[in-house]
Amino acid sequence: MRRQRKTKIIATLGPASSSPDMVEKLHLAGVDVFRLNFSHGSHEDHKERYDTIRNLEMHTGRPIGILADLQGPKIRVGTFENGPVMLEDGANFLLDMNEKPGDQTRVCLPHPQVMASLETGTRLLLDDGKLELEVIETDNKTAKCKVITGGKLSDRKGVNIPNAIVRMSPLTDKDRRDLDYALELGVDWIALSFVQRAEDLAEIKKIVAGRAGVMAKIEKPAAVENLNEIVELADALMVARGDLGVEVPIQKVPSLQKRIIRLANEAGKPVVVATQMLESMISAPVPTRAEVTDVANAIYDGTDAVMLSAESAAGEYPVEAVSTMNVIAEETECDANYRIVMDAAHAKPEATTADAISAAALQVASTIKAAAIVTYTTSGSTALRAARERGDAPVLALTPSLKTARRLALTWGLHCVRTEDAKNFADMVEKACNISFKEKFARPGERVVIMAGVPFGTPGSTNILRIAWVGEKTLSTN
Ligand code: PGA
Ligand code: MN
Repeated sequence: MRRQRKTKIIATLGPASSSPDMVEKLHLAGVDVFRLNFSHGSHEDHKERYDTIRNLEMHTGRPIGILADLQGPKIRVGTFENGPVMLEDGANFLLDMNEKPGDQTRVCLPHPQVMASLETGTRLLLDDGKLELEVIETDNKTAKCKVITGGKLSDRKGVNIPNAIVRMSPLTDKDRRDLDYALELGVDWIALSFVQRAEDLAEIKKIVAGRAGVMAKIEKPAAVENLNEIVELADALMVARGDLGVEVPIQKVPSLQKRIIRLANEAGKPVVVATQMLESMISAPVPTRAEVTDVANAIYDGTDAVMLSAESAAGEYPVEAVSTMNVIAEETECDANYRIVMDAAHAKPEATTADAISAAALQVASTIKAAAIVTYTTSGSTALRAARERGDAPVLALTPSLKTARRLALTWGLHCVRTEDAKNFADMVEKACNISFKEKFARPGERVVIMAGVPFGTPGSTNILRIAWVGEKTLSTN
């Protein structure tokens, strides 16, 4: 199955989309990576979805990525004695660690580390930013607050504290259990919510130990401040616009999206734009013009992937939402202006052989109008560098590792195929031509540009560029 676009599509699975039939429809409609959201559902739910995807993968023969998204330290208030309370503007309201149900004057904030990080002047946003409190006095066990923006507050509503670096591990006990479970299942990517510092990533990377890629969700002001270090340590990034739009002034979301994408592109690491992309399709079969434009703009920004959350997990039109993203991506990438933007904006090669070969491959491919670039990759790193060029020619990534093929499903422009390593030079050419033909990237008489490394199968050895004709022999061996 060959996609007619380079941008990848991620869809979150949920109650609306977990039957084998539905998962297959979503994949056929365009999903390259499925997201298991560990903020919802039981381990059994996730296992069932995982098995469904792997079964489908076995049938289609196309590698599919699976992303496990950990909830992270989502802060919540406790419960109330007599149902929701109305907080009036200007009133005082106490946060404490007393588990007794709350009332008009106080409620429990059951997170000692959060309480300890509050200072006079700290702003707390409640219920997705609908209410706002400011700390006027704190002894690190209680915090006396003034209600800046009042409203209705009910049981276990979420709390965002944009400007405090909360000294708590980004991995809660639940996250640790979920992480172990997801790794045991064999997911390809782990996303970490509410990352604040590069150290947060170091901690999770130590546990993951290479078994999956680690994606940092950028949704905290602290993460924005530490963006360079985070990009350096993460394997991928997510512009998590949902929480980001509460944690920073909402009008900063577009410029942050562009900045995060640019930094990720420069580093050659996949980046995902997430949340509310086709929000109205939760309950309508067609999107708004603004949403279509938003998806297209994320693509013009250079994102690797666009993501669906509630639209595919709990909406009424999951397949239509995926098809919509698919056609927007196809159309946008055909625009001459998109090519101009990619050519102008993509990062310069770094001083490595992999980058030199990647840039040269693209130049050769465009000069001779090659049908495709074929790259042999073991760990995936060479393919990532080839994708970083953001070229017009399609890139086939051939790898002996199914794990690598699945992980690369997230990356812009890569069509991954699992195959044995090349045995020798002739085999390298033959495999590349055969697979380009079989996967419908090249016809007999067309040329492909091959990137590989000798000795074959040695990670980091990319040092060969070869032009090959897809010939009669290719036809006869198929
Ligand atoms: P979430 O993350 O859906 O897990 O909250 C994405 C976001 O915040 O945008
Ligand atoms: Mn979030």
